[in-house]
Amino acid sequence: MRVYNTLSKRKEEFVTLEPGKVKMYVCGPTVYNLIHIGNARPMIVFDTVRRYLEHKGYEVNYVSNFTDVDDKIIAKANEEGVSSQEISERYIAECQKDMEAMNVRPATTHPRATQEIDGMIAMIQTLVDKGYAYDVDGTVYFRTRKFQEYGKLSHKNLDDLRSGNRSLLVTGEDQKEDPLDFVLWKPKKEGEPSWPSPWSDGRPGWHIECSVMSKKYLGEQIDIHAGGEDLIFPHHENEIAQSECCNGKEFAKYWLHNAFLNIDNRKMSKSLGNFFTVREILEKYDPQVLRFFMLSAHYRSPLNFSADLMEAAKNGLDRIRNAVSNLKYLMDCGAAAKKADSGVPGGAAGEQNSAAQDRASGMTAAEESLLAGMKGYEEKFDEAMDDDFNTADAIAVIFELVKFANSNLTSENSQALLQVAYDEIVSLSDILGLIVEEKEELLDADIEALIAERQAARKAKNFARADEIRNLLAKQGISLLDTREGVKWKRA
Ligand code: AMP
Ligand code: ZN
Repeated sequence: MRVYNTLSKRKEEFVTLEPGKVKMYVCGPTVYNLIHIGNARPMIVFDTVRRYLEHKGYEVNYVSNFTDVDDKIIAKANEEGVSSQEISERYIAECQKDMEAMNVRPATTHPRATQEIDGMIAMIQTLVDKGYAYDVDGTVYFRTRKFQEYGKLSHKNLDDLRSGNRSLLVTGEDQKEDPLDFVLWKPKKEGEPSWPSPWSDGRPGWHIECSVMSKKYLGEQIDIHAGGEDLIFPHHENEIAQSECCNGKEFAKYWLHNAFLNIDNRKMSKSLGNFFTVREILEKYDPQVLRFFMLSAHYRSPLNFSADLMEAAKNGLDRIRNAVSNLKYLMDCGAAAKKADSGVPGGAAGEQNSAAQDRASGMTAAEESLLAGMKGYEEKFDEAMDDDFNTADAIAVIFELVKFANSNLTSENSQALLQVAYDEIVSLSDILGLIVEEKEELLDADIEALIAERQAARKAKNFARADEIRNLLAKQGISLLDTREGVKWKRA
């Protein structure tokens, strides 16, 4: 598997620090408002990276933070006359709802900056002790030039940065030794949340948060660090400086950055006001359409949001869903026909079946060759994803498989073959976090009827059927509890 590393500006073979395990950190949102679909892009693409790594057999420890102390949160709290905590908790809860809707799995850990202040103070202290940081009147700065490798991620030259950053000299931070130095700790202003520290009552700078949370939950060295490309400089460059100077080790092996989600070819952002919240989009579209839209482009290509592209995404997803429900229909037809035949021993269809399906697989020779053809799609899918998570090509492979199923399979085919095609489309889509199966919601009356049938089956010692019904219900998220008063059930 090859992944593009911003650090080397090329695709590299993916080799983990520890065999079979991936430690992955993704910079999360600052929570002061509903997230917009630009923020959703890294959530969806890196959730897909995680799912694919798991599909490859890796155990992934996935950490993504919530930045819950920040100027924008404080401003919003003051505007509403509530505490910063109230704002951040509200928008963390809203963000989690959006993530769930988009089928973005919760991280292994979602640390919050305000819960990790002790770790931040400890790391800043180490940097001060090692001479990488200094305190001026309660503000602690990182001594950027002391880190020889500063600029290695953004491929920037320190002197160019200096001339480009002259404006920093006039921002009131003129106590800095060098305009390139950045803040690790700042004293509180009136009405701001603060914590005691050896330097001042204050709060941490943004960059130190991620260095600390990544170290605490994943260790000093991690495999993948990811986020949107606007974070390369200065956020990730500064994280590298802090972590590597503190720990004396390379921080992250692979740096992955998604390109922007644009609107009219400009970055969608809160400050430009050209954004749609995830919530607004979900009023119009199925969340799976949004996910499909995001994955229809490679994560390093800019993606322009438009109603036309969302319509195309909807059609694309429908094409897959239709193929899946058609296969289900074909299987149901086959099952019904079989049931009808079983009452007529030696009937025409019965003979045909036994002649054709005397192989262990239950398939004819022609079907076995179709099956072999189908296996190729799985390999092609993996090939696309192995090439720096090329979801656009991976989706194209699913389309090929759909076309293959639509043009080759009919109700005359064996259940086994139809099931393989069905499972293949569903499972490849599932690796991308795309839900393409129609979830048939069982009505209460259907559940009761199945439970009654299960009781009768048990009485008749037909335990296989009883188990089958239990499993069928479990698949629909319904669990059964055998009690003295009878069978009780509940939905998950
Ligand atoms: P923020 O809350 O602004 O720190 O953003 C959270 C995440 O969303 C970061 O990884 C950003 O890089 C990413 N992000 C913000 N806007 C966009 C956009 N328009 N396109 C892609 N990623 C974005
Ligand atoms: Zn970060």
